[in-house]
Amino acid sequence: MSFNELLEKLAATAMDVDAAQNWPTQQFDWLAESGVLGWVIPEEYGGQPVSESECVTGYERLATACLTTCFALTQRNGACQRIVGSSNEEIKAELLPRLASGESFATVGISHLTTSRQHIAKPMVRVEQRGDHFILNGMIPWVTGAIAADHIVTGGTCDDGLQVLIAMPCDLDGISIHPKVELMSLTAAETTSIDLKNVRIPKKYLLAGPVEGVMSQGVGGGAGSLTTSTLALGVSARSLALIQEEAESRPNLKENVSAFQHDVESLREDIGKASLGIASDEPQLSATMIRQRSNSLALRITQAALTITKGAGFMKGHAAELAVREAMFFLVWSCPQPVVQGVLSELACRDGF
Ligand SMILES: Cc1cc2nc3c(=O)[nH]c(=O)nc-3n(C[C@H](O)[C@H](O)[C@H](O)COP(=O)(O)OP(=O)(O)OC[C@H]3O[C@@H](n4cnc5c(N)ncnc54)[C@H](O)[C@@H]3O)c2cc1C
Repeated sequence: MSFNELLEKLAATAMDVDAAQNWPTQQFDWLAESGVLGWVIPEEYGGQPVSESECVTGYERLATACLTTCFALTQRNGACQRIVGSSNEEIKAELLPRLASGESFATVGISHLTTSRQHIAKPMVRVEQRGDHFILNGMIPWVTGAIAADHIVTGGTCDDGLQVLIAMPCDLDGISIHPKVELMSLTAAETTSIDLKNVRIPKKYLLAGPVEGVMSQGVGGGAGSLTTSTLALGVSARSLALIQEEAESRPNLKENVSAFQHDVESLREDIGKASLGIASDEPQLSATMIRQRSNSLALRITQAALTITKGAGFMKGHAAELAVREAMFFLVWSCPQPVVQGVLSELACRDGF
């Protein structure tokens, strides 16, 4: 299946995915058929790798077509990237070929090491080393696609404060996956929490550590990375198309729609530059600034789409109401503190906003 065919199919089923609130199995089959599942996996393991900048462009278009599928893909790709970036050759050879073909699925449960529960002193997941096993106890607060996963890339903290990152097999004793949580949007991505009770994981599944701040090691895109901004841009681009269509027969909308078009294009250009590593010393192109702008644009343009489509857009199942609900996700997903501060300053109309 070509990438354009994939996008058409995803866009045509996006509303149904949102309404049915079930894991997008069919959509992941299409991702496999079109080679997208190979994007972040090296050729030697059966992948079809693309550059970071191609990946960013691809994510934008996928998020425009169906945010739920694209978001679930990014969590799966995050897991794959952490496995690829590890020096554990045995685990790479064992897991990556089946991940590349779509025969197996992995996801991440790492927010408790980055952006979730950071105000709580006690680690969410405690790790003990016993012989050739790690013993995990605690709770992973957020895991997207948990029900579909064969492995979850997750981590925890040892008594000495050092952290480990592990590709945890999901069929081990002591793992309890809670039912999915109903969310404002993206419920179909099956996000939930997982309890861990004396889970014994063979050490061969270790990806990184024990080390201080294991999430700041290696690759995979940290909290608030360019990927998160790209998905917000994808939702904005979809809303832009919607308001442009409305403006065709409503000349009084044209000026505001042009302003939004300019915003979308300039953000796309800057995300493109950042993904190529161009002018990385320009503050405008820092991951934090780009994420703040992406959040701001997604919030403004989706609400503009609602304003323009009026009561019809407020009805369940309209593209405008879906986009408004989806935009809210970027206020809470993978937002490091500087991004949160920037968003709050804008909402409070402070600091030059
Ligand atoms: C739909 C969805 C899917 C996600 N999928 C994944 C995934 O697949 N993998 C993954 O790793 N992560 C995932 N995340 C997690 C995400 O990236 C963020 O880490 C998460 O949204 C942060 O929210 P939290 O409620 O855990 O934050 P917390 O910071 O834990 O806040 C929880 C509550 O604690 C209180 N609080 C917060 N800060 C303070 C403070 N300083 N002092 C006192 N009280 C405070 C507030 O009342 C707040 O409501 C997902 C999140 C969402 C919403």
